[in-house]
Amino acid sequence: MPSPNNTSQEKSALFGTYARTPLAFERGEGVRLYTSRGEEFLDFNSGIGVNALGHSNPLVRKALTEQGNRLWHVSNIYTIPEAERLAQKLVEETFAEAVFFTNSGAEAVECAIKTARHHFSDRGEKERFEIIAFKGSFHGRTLGTIAAGGNPAYLEGFGPVMPGFAHVEPGDLEAVAKKITPKTCAILIEPVQGEGGIRIMEKSFMAGLRKLCDDNGLLLILDEVQCGYGRTGKFFAHEWAGIRPDIMAVAKGIGGGFPLGACLATEKVAKSMVPGTHGSTYGGNPLACAVGNAVIEQILAPGFLQRVEKMGNVLGHHMQQLMQKYPDLVVDVRGMGLMAGMKITPPVREFVEKLRQHKLLCVAAGDNVLRLLPPLIITEDDIKEAFEKICTALDEIDGKKK
Ligand SMILES: *Cc1c(COP(=O)(O)O)cnc(C)c1O
Repeated sequence: MPSPNNTSQEKSALFGTYARTPLAFERGEGVRLYTSRGEEFLDFNSGIGVNALGHSNPLVRKALTEQGNRLWHVSNIYTIPEAERLAQKLVEETFAEAVFFTNSGAEAVECAIKTARHHFSDRGEKERFEIIAFKGSFHGRTLGTIAAGGNPAYLEGFGPVMPGFAHVEPGDLEAVAKKITPKTCAILIEPVQGEGGIRIMEKSFMAGLRKLCDDNGLLLILDEVQCGYGRTGKFFAHEWAGIRPDIMAVAKGIGGGFPLGACLATEKVAKSMVPGTHGSTYGGNPLACAVGNAVIEQILAPGFLQRVEKMGNVLGHHMQQLMQKYPDLVVDVRGMGLMAGMKITPPVREFVEKLRQHKLLCVAAGDNVLRLLPPLIITEDDIKEAFEKICTALDEIDGKKK
């Protein structure tokens, strides 16, 4: 019988797909997590950008238990009022006119890809299925989304790569323009690359992609699974660039910890997705959407996003100071709101482990970046505490060097 506090020596019955730490938590409250031994951790990971409202948010808990006592699941052959309500709210607050609910980010991206391809197929352009995507991007782990991401490490060993994706270096509009062929149907991009190392796309680049799409009759698909839902201080990150996509994948923050995702689209694009074209057993079930409704209400409450932006500035200020104090260890800082990262010189995975010993939870990203994704309810004092811990850990490395 495996104990909940699995130590690395014990054989786990789970797939070995994750390099797990033996650390296990029993309880969470706000921006803090607790082990069964009562140890307290400051959470600057938020389940990788998921727990936007922190742990155990009272209103989300209330929505979950009330719905849980009433009805969990019925299937999408029935009308689901909770899903109608959440979709209506998303439509009111974004570019979109229609929503498809999923259980995860990868499924939201899959739906975006299918919707784009089907839009053209429906117009008699079956050969137009190619999507231009970007190097360093991450779109999920299904066969379709690993092809979209194009990361060789994720594709290797899983048979033929699904065709229909071309990859270019982000930031290079000319390179994107050159990749457009009569087969191209869409451009797919994360406005801020998350797993890739918190790489922020320039406003001018995003606007340029919108124009390329308009000039060539292509659809612009945004993957805002990580950078959306308030993370950057706007409801969605593309709002900073003043553009609108045609299709957008959303997940992570939308469920505040409950598995939920969504594919948003304009009516023009969504209208080809008629009965039989797509589906999901669980996607948008009453329990998930009841939680989603409690989350969106708080994210869009007056002042919430302005506060995220303000805390993002505080976080950015601390990162800048850190880079000045440790120029050999912290070589670049990046951030937009509460989606931030620091490129460091020590191996980032070991550094994440070191921070854990100091009771601070962070996660690594590509390009040796320490990724900071605190819950959006973080306070100035929490940020200060986190940076004191990061300083202590950097001092230890600095001390060892001398
Ligand atoms: C996490 C993530 C995904 C995949 O989401 P899952 O819920 O793990 O399937 C897709 N795109 C981006 C940008 C992500 O950060």
